[in-house]
Amino acid sequence: MKNRKTAGFILIAVLLVLTCLAGCGKLAAYSNGNGKGNEAGTAAVSAADEKTKAAAVTTEAAKTEAGRKTEAAQKTEAARPETEQAASELTAGTDADVSRQAAEEESRRAAEEESRRIEESIAEASRQAAEEESRRAEEEASRRAAEEASRQAAEEASRRAEEEASRQAAEEESRRAAEEESRRAAEEESRRAAETTGPVQSQPDYIANTSSHKFHYPWCHSVEQMAEHNKWYFYGNRQELINQGYVPCKNCNP
Ligand SMILES: [Zn+2]
Repeated sequence: MKNRKTAGFILIAVLLVLTCLAGCGKLAAYSNGNGKGNEAGTAAVSAADEKTKAAAVTTEAAKTEAGRKTEAAQKTEAARPETEQAASELTAGTDADVSRQAAEEESRRAAEEESRRIEESIAEASRQAAEEESRRAEEEASRRAAEEASRQAAEEASRRAEEEASRQAAEEESRRAAEEESRRAAEEESRRAAETTGPVQSQPDYIANTSSHKFHYPWCHSVEQMAEHNKWYFYGNRQELINQGYVPCKNCNP
């Protein structure tokens, strides 16, 4: 604004100088005319007039221009409050803009914070899920190990029970075998003892009744009722007794 105003004043000053110079020319011509004659003086005056007129025109034009520029300056001056207001508004707008940017920045930070918080929350949830998964896996492994241990213990117990049963059965079998062996050994011993006693053994093969001509095993109860003098302690084959006319007892059936 000020530059325009200054340019206007400078232009006016230049025009005034030019006008002044034109005036001086006129004076010079007039002085010249006094020395060189009327014709030359007239011509000079005419030329000076022309110059003055031209200068006047130029001045008028300059004035018009200056007036236009002054008007423009005035308009500019008049417009200043508006401009200042506009500038103020601009400043206000800038303030609002700054405020808005600050708000945006704040909003962005809040959003970032929220985003970060959400990410942390997700990470935490993920970590917790991983821990839970790990804990479950450990529990599962522990449970399986316990099951396996239990199963093995059951198998071991079953195996031991089978072994124990097998061992007891073997012992029982062994005991029976030993008993059988012992019984057989005793029988054998008894038989040998009987053999060694030979013909002088106290127990006869049969006892025959010399009165009734019946013969019995020694253990038959009929023998008890027999009179001692009728007893015949027979050592030998039953056929020998039959051949001698003796008959087997119907009770003990020898
Ligand atoms: Zn008999």
